[in-house]
Amino acid sequence: MVNLDIMYNENEIQKRLTEMANEIDRDYEGRNIVVICVLRGAIYFTVDLTKKMKTHMELDFVRISSYEGTESTGKINLSLDVSENLEDRDVLIIEDIIDTGYTLKFLKEHILAKKPKSLKIAVLADKEERRKVEVDVDYIGFKIPNNYVVGYGFDYNNTCRNLPYIGALK
Ligand code: 5GP
Repeated sequence: MVNLDIMYNENEIQKRLTEMANEIDRDYEGRNIVVICVLRGAIYFTVDLTKKMKTHMELDFVRISSYEGTESTGKINLSLDVSENLEDRDVLIIEDIIDTGYTLKFLKEHILAKKPKSLKIAVLADKEERRKVEVDVDYIGFKIPNNYVVGYGFDYNNTCRNLPYIGALK
């Protein structure tokens, strides 16, 4: 069993997601956007956040891995690309966490090459103090300290994603 300290319980997560969804709806009012969920970590966040949003959207997926164990390697692997044509579209990337920034920097450049009209990024968690490369993030759920987080999409060696809360590894 994994030993965790609960950081955010289900209610706290859902309350914050409602606030984020309202903010996103205000920013995209009247527009039809493409939401890109970054597999696998952002799956729970994407489902709950987009259900709270009223903005008209299409949902697409990329799959990226950059991690081995609990340390960022900086090596990025894109194993699934989007299916939609993103040219001249308003695109919102939904990612679980920004840590060193390597993953989102890579993904942002990859998506910008597809010539969207606009590109914004939402993350559930931000470990600001760990940043190695600068990436502008438009919506941040929780600013967190340098703990390894598990649950609500965040894995521990690819397990524990289905925990309904976010915990810090002890
Ligand atoms: P970055 O490229 O910004 O260093 O890392 C982003 C990726 O690292 C995330 O998509 C996520 O998969 C993984 N990651 C970073 N911090 C954590 C963490 O605390 N817990 C888990 N489970 N994954 C993390």
